Amino acid sequence: CGVFGIYAPGEDVAKLTYFGLYALQHRGQESAGIATFDGSEVHVYKDMGLVNQIFSEDILEGLTGKLAIGHTRYSTTGSSRKANAQPSIVNTRLGKVALSHNGNLVNTWKLRNELVNSNFNLVTSTDSEMIIFAIAEAVNNGADWLNGTIEALHRCQGAFSLAIATPEGVIGVRDPYGIRPLVIGTLDSNPTRYVLASETCGLDIIGAKYLQDVKPGELVWITEDGLSLYNWSQNSQNKLCIFEMIYFARPDSMMNNESLYTYRLRLGRELAVESKVDADIVFGIPDSGVPAAIGFSQVSKIHYAEGIIKNRYVGRTFIQPTQSMRESGIRMKLNPLKDVLEGKRIIIVDDSIVRGTTSRKLVKALRSAGAIEVHMRISSPPVTHPCFYGIDTDTQDQLIAANKSTKEIAEQIGVDSLNYLSWEGMLKTTGKSSNDFCSACFTGDYPIKIPENMKRYKLM
Ligand code: 5GP
Ligand code: SF4
Ligand code: MG
Repeated sequence: CGVFGIYAPGEDVAKLTYFGLYALQHRGQESAGIATFDGSEVHVYKDMGLVNQIFSEDILEGLTGKLAIGHTRYSTTGSSRKANAQPSIVNTRLGKVALSHNGNLVNTWKLRNELVNSNFNLVTSTDSEMIIFAIAEAVNNGADWLNGTIEALHRCQGAFSLAIATPEGVIGVRDPYGIRPLVIGTLDSNPTRYVLASETCGLDIIGAKYLQDVKPGELVWITEDGLSLYNWSQNSQNKLCIFEMIYFARPDSMMNNESLYTYRLRLGRELAVESKVDADIVFGIPDSGVPAAIGFSQVSKIHYAEGIIKNRYVGRTFIQPTQSMRESGIRMKLNPLKDVLEGKRIIIVDDSIVRGTTSRKLVKALRSAGAIEVHMRISSPPVTHPCFYGIDTDTQDQLIAANKSTKEIAEQIGVDSLNYLSWEGMLKTTGKSSNDFCSACFTGDYPIKIPENMKRYKLM
């Protein structure tokens, strides 16, 4: 999911949020929403679909106020329906509160049982709802917004980057492991108006300047008194999802002081060092494989040529919830260039193989467009374990690399050769240690303990 928040009295906060969400659309395409606070009054609008399908000028004009939060949703828990769209709103002793969540809790059921017992009417089926009800419970028991939120956060386990709006101000939160990203920006050279966004591309689009990351286990409270930072968790560690860097986040977003485009080039360069093969052309599977393919071409000196064109108006195929939608999505999306491919030995580079469905169909299409050899190179290691922290890599039995060797995968996908980037190679490109990331989908080493009942549901 994508989350966004803004505190900017005097600005059209709804419109700025709209553009922020527009830039974060890649993080979720099922639903989107905006909530604004006008004093104690809340205005909210949310619906299924893409940001630009949901909001019109008229709707945005109705969303008045000095602060706002927004959300683009990609469902990992809870079904894909309108009731699950965010921001969620709950009424409390101190007025309404709105919340946007990116990530996935691992103790949802425990929290749900506790909250049901305290008479909340749980309306949706999401883990995000548990967080906002936990905040409401703390506030109703006498806490103020800041302390109530911190109290609630201590009950949450799992991945959560949050933007929360109250009548008084905007709160940004990252979980103690910092699994999902969240950054702070400002609209001013002398900051008084602040912005929160999942990625820096959400700041760029509204001309906001990046200030800093919200750190793991940190909370930001933005009010008329300015911005205050709190370490709400005593044992924070850096466990940023490495898949954000490899694939999920936009290439023009900055992480660790460089664009992810530059990072992904390096992945491709490393991949070429590890597994060069003779061929006539190399290209990336649009869009996610492109930077790594350019890096691969730079090192291997094999020509980069576009062999496949993407319809840019189709969403990410894996985000649609059913397998049949996913498969028809792929046909809608990519079209091979016959005259480029005819008689050529090609290398195709992609960021990852998850289920193998995209790759298999694609290779077939490339061969029927005339490619005589197809070599596939993947700029990350095999995905062998499911994600419990907010990226829907599904249950383990659906992960092709959990069940098959690289040779078997090559056969199933129909390529002449297949190589993944090694674990060591991937790590080397980050310039950091393996302790600085979550990379559980490649190793099974989950930094946040997964309860047994949740494991059973996704692991074989
Ligand atoms: P596959 O061949 O596994 O069906 O699809 C792999 C391609 O789709 C890659 O280009 C990757 O960008 C994207 N992809 C598909 N599903 C997922 C998913 O669940 N998680 C992630 N991170 N990427 C996916
Ligand atoms: Fe990211 Fe994989 Fe960890 Fe999930 S399991 S948070 S996708 S690195
Ligand atoms: Mg892709």
